[in-house]
Amino acid sequence: MFDLQKLVRENIKNLVPYSSARGIIKDNQATLLDANENAFSSSEIEGLNRYPDPLQVALKKKFGKLKGVGNQNILLGNGSDEIIEIILKTFCDPGKDNIVITPPTYGMYEVSANIHDVEVKRVNLNKNFQLIPQEIIQTIDRHTKLMFLCSPNNPTGNILDPNDIEKILREFNGMVVLDEAYIDFSDTNSWTKRLGEFPNLIILQTLSKAWGLASLRLGIAMARGKIIDFFNKVKAPYNIGGLTQQTVLRTLENPQKMHLALNEIKRERSRLMKRLGQLEVVEHIFPSEANFLLIRVPDPKMLYQYLMEKRIIVRDRSTQVHCKGCLRVTVGTPEENDQFIGAIQAYKI
Ligand SMILES: *Cc1c(COP(=O)(O)O)cnc(C)c1O
Repeated sequence: MFDLQKLVRENIKNLVPYSSARGIIKDNQATLLDANENAFSSSEIEGLNRYPDPLQVALKKKFGKLKGVGNQNILLGNGSDEIIEIILKTFCDPGKDNIVITPPTYGMYEVSANIHDVEVKRVNLNKNFQLIPQEIIQTIDRHTKLMFLCSPNNPTGNILDPNDIEKILREFNGMVVLDEAYIDFSDTNSWTKRLGEFPNLIILQTLSKAWGLASLRLGIAMARGKIIDFFNKVKAPYNIGGLTQQTVLRTLENPQKMHLALNEIKRERSRLMKRLGQLEVVEHIFPSEANFLLIRVPDPKMLYQYLMEKRIIVRDRSTQVHCKGCLRVTVGTPEENDQFIGAIQAYKI
């Protein structure tokens, strides 16, 4: 039986969260002498002397509307990386609890767990980069609080079979964190629509990829309200700056630019696949539902160095599970992709 109260750490359940001045006062016209802010801003930009909305209500309403999710079901973080930390801090007792990850996958889950002294259990994906649900279920023990699944997966680019994800959601009584950082590049549906079905599902998205706002740092978690309530207790009170909130609001109000870029990236992804497929040095291109391609070549280290000398930087993933010989290439602008194709065309094995 899934029991949220049993999963949350005892100290977090008992935690009296920091009560921020700006969380209580709603009257913008009031004389604000409560938060030790400086009434004389030293910036050209207005309003930066005041603390920002700790719960980012306006932003969550806007994002929630886009995703069909209520604002009480949303947590915003300083990038997904902060959210991963908040999740670990909420559920995992250091030195006692463990998490499951499914390599090859995003590196931050493990790093974050290591920082918090939380044991990491690895259940590799199969050779087709799909989950092995039976093995995952067998690996879980009574200290397994969380599992991180990534779909579309980084660095492989494929969607994880939804039937496998559903099986795990139903059989695992801990939290399943489904990282959908690349979902907008995929033709498959986000799991946000099914959030109501699963009390143990946490979906991660980010503005760093499809929305092109990596520098702003904004990650999103979506889950049942009771889970989000715990995260709000754990997070730093003012974790999203006021400028970020304003900038993101304006970007979300005008999504046409994002859609145009998204279409161009998908077109370029197809073109890259086609052009790279004609080259002898490229042994295999894995199908991708993300904004990158994983390619297999005979000597990845040498090709990596060669490209580096031409000042084209790709990611060497050749030491990852099932990724022997693999480089990961992000889809760039048409000009950048042409540079990459040209360079690899001129490469002699
Ligand atoms: C890029 C990426 C993210 C985004 O992280 P941010 O901290 O939001 O920039 C999250 N998950 C995966 C799998 C990624 O590849």
